[in-house]
Amino acid sequence: MDDTVTSCDVLVVGAGPGGGNAALQCARLGLNTILIEDHHEIGTPVHCGECISDVACQNLGLTLPEHVISKEVKGIRVIFPDGTEKCLSEHGYVLEKHLFEQWIAESAVSEGAKLSLGHKITGMEKVYLEGKFSGWRCEGKGEEFPIFTKVVIDASGVASVCSRLLNLNPRGKVVAGMQYELEGVPTDGYLDFYIWPSYAEKGYLWMIPKCDGRANIGLVTEDKPRTKKALDEFIENTHFKGLNQNLPAWKKKGNPAFGGTIPISGPHENTHSDGLLLVGDAAGFTSPLFEGGSHLALKSAVFAAQTAAEAISDNDLSAKKLSKYASLWKDEFPPYDKILKGKNALFDLTDEEMSIMARCLPDEMSEMGISGKAMVGVRLLFKSPSLYAKNIIRAMLAFGYSRAKYYGW
Ligand SMILES: Cc1cc2nc3c(=O)[nH]c(=O)nc-3n(C[C@H](O)[C@H](O)[C@H](O)COP(=O)(O)OP(=O)(O)OC[C@H]3O[C@@H](n4cnc5c(N)ncnc54)[C@H](O)[C@@H]3O)c2cc1C
Repeated sequence: MDDTVTSCDVLVVGAGPGGGNAALQCARLGLNTILIEDHHEIGTPVHCGECISDVACQNLGLTLPEHVISKEVKGIRVIFPDGTEKCLSEHGYVLEKHLFEQWIAESAVSEGAKLSLGHKITGMEKVYLEGKFSGWRCEGKGEEFPIFTKVVIDASGVASVCSRLLNLNPRGKVVAGMQYELEGVPTDGYLDFYIWPSYAEKGYLWMIPKCDGRANIGLVTEDKPRTKKALDEFIENTHFKGLNQNLPAWKKKGNPAFGGTIPISGPHENTHSDGLLLVGDAAGFTSPLFEGGSHLALKSAVFAAQTAAEAISDNDLSAKKLSKYASLWKDEFPPYDKILKGKNALFDLTDEEMSIMARCLPDEMSEMGISGKAMVGVRLLFKSPSLYAKNIIRAMLAFGYSRAKYYGW
């Protein structure tokens, strides 16, 4: 390898939660790791409602420092079209997400990873030594390029850059998400999720409370062209009307709205290849009903780092060797297709049918158990037996799968 090429064991592309944690875990495993980020600052622009469950933090061994926590919350309250409210109580946090991502990347650096901001990967070419695949020569914008690496971890989010450069997977579907930070928002400590299809088609709206009376008010919807209009109408027609819109602290100027897109086609067919592992949104890992992805991104990063370390140690970077990664996430993550069927069944219901279903549910949905579910079944049978033909049970199970232990948030 010539002197002008930077070399490493693992190149992590993107410093979101997935990439930051991949770099942290790789560095901890003693791998020579470079973390590159396209932007000149980590975590901005924020494209997240910013919530993460306590279960997620425990699952990941994360002890959040005070400065990244905006507010502790009691769980999710789902609000159905007729206003019926049901809770999925479980402790969690609303983060200052950009500070959270910066903290993870700083932790990676303190464990020995090298962080290069303003670096964007634009090309990848396989390198062979004596006929054996030995890594990637990566091209891009930024002084570290070209970079030779044994393994690339693609954590570039919905852009899924490496997968696209290599034509590894077809382009998946995405939904649009947008939010404002409002001030003076009343809260009792729950995340309020409104399933109101008239504003958010096959999506939902949220009020995610933060400290000092601030809150993220937003939505995800499959009706992309109507995203902003629908959010503005929702605010105008609810108790959020007239509240001040803040420019979030990380945003110096411009429009107060912020957001992004979320992959909704489920995990990509190929989440690994020779010397390549896809994590987080880049792999299509999001939770189908409420579209949370941070927990999945952070956890897939752990699996990717373990797989990369083993492959490098065994001097075998082949796709076959790296297939262990796919086994790890498939064993751990909930069945996407099953939950998606539940989500589709939910959105096949009319507003009226959804509300009937909601009124049959217990006020607290997190610990229903077998007898609780049977009770709901009996109530439904009395109120609207025809709903059974519309896969109502499947729709209800989608809420269960949105709990933290199933990587819902
Ligand atoms: C509006 C909205 C609200 C959401 N709310 C929540 C929520 O409350 N809770 C939750 O769990 N999830 C939420 N999500 C989803 C969550 O934000 C993502 O699932 C999560 O951020 C995925 O993490 P990631 O590391 O895979 O990707 P990302 O966070 O997208 O990070 C990817 C990084 O890669 C960088 N990058 C891209 N291309 C390149 C390149 N060519 N070279 C170098 N770097 C590159 C990007 O700049 C970025 O920093 C929300 C998403 C949206 C859009």
